[in-house]
Amino acid sequence: MGTLYLVATPIGNLEDITLRALRVLKEVDLIAAEDTRRTRILLQRYGISTPLTSYHPHNWREKAPYLLGLLSEGKKVALVSDAGMPGISDPGEELVKLALARGIEVVPLPGPSAALTALVVSGLPCDRFVFEGFLPRKGRERRERLEALAEEVRTIILYEAPHRLLKTLEDLKAFLGDRLVAIARELTKKHETVWRGNLSQAVEFFQAHPPRGEITLVVGREPSPSPPREIDWGTLIAEVKDLEGKGWERKRALKEVARRWGVSRRDLYKAYLESQDK
Ligand code: SAM
Repeated sequence: MGTLYLVATPIGNLEDITLRALRVLKEVDLIAAEDTRRTRILLQRYGISTPLTSYHPHNWREKAPYLLGLLSEGKKVALVSDAGMPGISDPGEELVKLALARGIEVVPLPGPSAALTALVVSGLPCDRFVFEGFLPRKGRERRERLEALAEEVRTIILYEAPHRLLKTLEDLKAFLGDRLVAIARELTKKHETVWRGNLSQAVEFFQAHPPRGEITLVVGREPSPSPPREIDWGTLIAEVKDLEGKGWERKRALKEVARRWGVSRRDLYKAYLESQDK
């Protein structure tokens, strides 16, 4: 029996490849690549001339039996995706399942993945997180996924295409509340940027600056706390006095104004008493 190697490749910067990945890509009999043109650029850069064949979501059903046949004959095959870790929002999962079912050894070679790269630079909690890949594009499936995410208490990692980013930010805000978000674009590439803020600010920003390039979103766990407010106690006290002037009891007036402005009744009462001392 041969061996199927799952080889992680760079998500942009061609230097992000391990020594082991280069050795295995050199030694295997065949490389099955999602995008042979893109993989050829990588191989050329490192002087590797191993034969390539395509393996992607549109031909995997026809290609899998051929690759499994080679593996059963004892050949070594490396599977690489367009970028990053094969199997993560990329073809690979099916081939792994089929190979394991035939008793073929499967060896993973770790390396870059956009999801973890974005998570660690996001500034959001990394201790518990969930990877959601691409959201369903529309309809009930999308709504149900967003409803489920509204209950999510872990940091959420999502992939998104640039032309769908704005709609996704709007939907996330509507379903999950105004959470913190980090939007990582073009990671490891020349125009790498990470935008950080909350979802409503992100909607505003990306409306004005339509994004380009590859994007990974990292969404925080809870609605972000509102920015600290400057409370103008004078205005609040004037409102209390106004209500008192209309015949309200002081206690009731304090309660009502505290509710209107979202401040504690005790703090308002304290400010009220201090204003009388002046
Ligand atoms: N297998 C890949 C991995 O492990 O990261 C993911 C493949 S998925 C088809 C491609 C998506 O990953 C892109 O649409 C984008 O959302 C994200 N992505 C890939 N490269 C990226 C990069 N350099 N910066 C930000 N996001 C990236």
